[in-house]
Amino acid sequence: MLVEQIRQRYLETLERMEKAAQRTGRDPRQVQLIVVTKAQPLEVVQAAIQAGAQALGENYPEEGVMKIQSLPEAKRVQWHMIGHLQRRKAELVIQHFDFFHALDSLRLAQRLSRLAQEAGRILPTLLEFNVSGEASKFGWPAWEEAAWPNLWPEIEAVLTLPGLAIQGVMAMPPLFENPEEVRPYFRRLRRLFETLSQRFPQAEWRHLSMGTSADYEIAIEEGATMVRVGQAILGPRPPKQEPK
Ligand SMILES: *Cc1c(COP(=O)(O)O)cnc(C)c1O
Repeated sequence: MLVEQIRQRYLETLERMEKAAQRTGRDPRQVQLIVVTKAQPLEVVQAAIQAGAQALGENYPEEGVMKIQSLPEAKRVQWHMIGHLQRRKAELVIQHFDFFHALDSLRLAQRLSRLAQEAGRILPTLLEFNVSGEASKFGWPAWEEAAWPNLWPEIEAVLTLPGLAIQGVMAMPPLFENPEEVRPYFRRLRRLFETLSQRFPQAEWRHLSMGTSADYEIAIEEGATMVRVGQAILGPRPPKQEPK
């Protein structure tokens, strides 16, 4: 049965997460599992909730909202928007999501903050960085550490916005055949996280969102506090029906 299968893989993932945390002397309770349900049909998302998932990650706002509105169980879990967000869809995130992982520009931040204030809420948000230099990746450019100071003015401006609670950083590094090869990218994000915490004490730097099915154990060894795992728990994603 679908729920049982997902439950088994969910529990196995939690167990591996726990071991990865223990290997590096970390408290496993510091690491949250976001089950990535993007592109999965409703019955799989429902089964994930029934299997015990507490936080779900979606990439496309409309798809996420459709699921949130269709599932009677939706209120039992936290909904995380983990994908690139276009400014004209900012309202959907403010109205429906609990947490945003992929802030990548000051203009988007300004809009989200204004809409959040109008809605009487504060959106917990992470800054996304491109730590690899791949053109296909979103996020502020952060692959050259010597150029990090160029980012400070914009980040400082983001931190003044009253509708956003900036709580950390996120990245989507390259995929490798051998997951060990991703470690230097996780380390770079971790160094950036530490640099930001020292440079901007006005924010509460709590979260490093990094690691997917392919490499979440390594991400935890390198300090992740949130891992975003889809296929390892839910199985392969069905092919996309239509763009977004
Ligand atoms: C799809 C996706 C994931 C999860 O990838 P899996 O291979 O299914 O674990 C994590 N983070 C982001 C931003 C994604 O788009």
